[in-house]
Amino acid sequence: VEVLKSRVKAEMTREAQLPEVHTESIDQMLRAHLASFNPESEDAEAENAFYVADLGEVYRQHLRWKALLPRIEPFFAMKCNPDPMVMRLLASLGAGFDCASKNEIQSVLEMGVDPTRIIYANPCKQNSFVKYAYANNVRMMTFDNAEELHKIKRFHPTAQLVLRILTDDSKSLCKLGLKFGAPLDTTAFLLRTAQELGLDVIGVSFHVGSGCFDANAFGEAVIRARRVFDQAKDYGFDFKFLDVGGGFPSAHITEGITFEKVATILGSTVDALFGPDVRVIAEPGRYYVGSAFTLATQVIARRTILRNETEALVAAQSEHPAHMYYINDGMYGSFNCIMFDHQACEPKVLLKDGGYTYQQRLTSEPHGWASVWGPTCDSIDCVSPKSSLPLMETGDWLYFDNMGAYTITAASQFNGFRRSEILYTTTEPEVSLHF
Ligand code: PLP
Repeated sequence: VEVLKSRVKAEMTREAQLPEVHTESIDQMLRAHLASFNPESEDAEAENAFYVADLGEVYRQHLRWKALLPRIEPFFAMKCNPDPMVMRLLASLGAGFDCASKNEIQSVLEMGVDPTRIIYANPCKQNSFVKYAYANNVRMMTFDNAEELHKIKRFHPTAQLVLRILTDDSKSLCKLGLKFGAPLDTTAFLLRTAQELGLDVIGVSFHVGSGCFDANAFGEAVIRARRVFDQAKDYGFDFKFLDVGGGFPSAHITEGITFEKVATILGSTVDALFGPDVRVIAEPGRYYVGSAFTLATQVIARRTILRNETEALVAAQSEHPAHMYYINDGMYGSFNCIMFDHQACEPKVLLKDGGYTYQQRLTSEPHGWASVWGPTCDSIDCVSPKSSLPLMETGDWLYFDNMGAYTITAASQFNGFRRSEILYTTTEPEVSLHF
C-alpha cells in the first residue's frame, strides 16, 4: 500500500508539474512576458531568451494531415523536437512515434503509449537498445544491412522488420542517403538473408531526405518501394507495410514544395500502387513543429565596427555590416539548426526603445547591415552574418519565428549557457482538452 501510495503521489506531482498552457496568441504571450521584464530588476532569469510554443499550430497540422493524407498514419519523428507537451498532445491525438534510441522509446512508453504505436526507425542500433525493444514489446524496426539482421536474430527474433531502401535525396537539405538506405541492387541479398534467418520482414521504408524541396521525390520513392514489394515475393514474403518516412515541409513553407503538393503526389501514387490491405505510415518531424515555436532573444551586447573614413566608405558601398549584435541564444543552443539542419535564421525586431514591434515592419527606421552572434566565446557562433536591421541597443529584443524543428532538441550547454525555456500557449481551444 505504501509503495502504491508513493507511486500515486509521484504521478500526481508529475501531472501537477505540467507547465501551464495559456490561450493567448503568440503576440500576446510575447508582449506579456516582455512587459514584465524590467532591465533594472534583480531577476536575472527575466532577460533570458525564451520560446513561445503554440500547441494549436501542432494540432492544426495534425488535422491537415488527416484531411489530406487520410490513409497514411503519422508517426511523429520525435528527434525533431521531443518537447513533452508536443509529445503529450500528439499521443492523445492518436499519433504514433518514430524513435531512434532506447531513451526515445522509453519516454514514449512512459507516456502510456502502446508499443505497437512505435517504430524503432534507426537502421543501425546498439545491441542493448535492441534488447530493450524486445523486453518492451516494441516490434517494428528498420534495417538496411545484413549485419543488423544477424544482430536482430540474436536479440529480437520476433521483430517486425522494415527494409529501408535508398531513394534519391538530391533534392533535400539533409541527405540522409549518405548514411542509410539499401541500394536496390542489394535488397535481394538482404531479403534472402532475412529468409534464411527466419526473420519476419513486413515491408519497406524510405526517407527522401529532410527538408525535401521536390514533391516528386515522394512519388519516385514509392515506385521504388513497389519494386521491392514485388521482389520480396521471391523470398517468401508477403509485404503489407509501407513507411514513407519524413521530409514533409513545415507549415510556413508556402512556396515551392508545399504539403498540399506532397499529399497530392504521394497520396495518389500510394493508392495507385498499393491495395487497401497495405498499411501505410509516415515519420513526419518538422512538418508538425517547424512553425509552432517562436524564439525571443535579448541583445546582450553590441559592437560598432570602427573604421577610418576610407574604410567606412568602402564598407558602406559593399554593404559590410557596421554593427555586431550579440544575443543570448546561439549556434551552440537553439541555432544549432544553422549547422546541422542547413537553416538560415532571420532576426526580426521585437522590442526596441521600449516599443514592441512583433510582426511590424519598422519602415520609418533607417536600416543598416549587421551581423548577429550567439553568446559563447567561439567565433563559429554566428546566427546571421548579414541582416538588415535598425540600430539596436543592448537590452532590445530580436525574435525568430519557425524555430520548432531541429533547434532545442540538439542545443548544448556549451560555455555554461542554458537551453532557452518554453512558454506554452494554444491558439486552438480544443487543445486544452488534451491536457
Ligand atoms: N525518420 C527518420 C528515420 C529520420 O532520420 C528523420 C530525420 O532525420 C525523420 C524521420 C524526420 O524527418 P523530417 O523532420 O524531415 O520529417
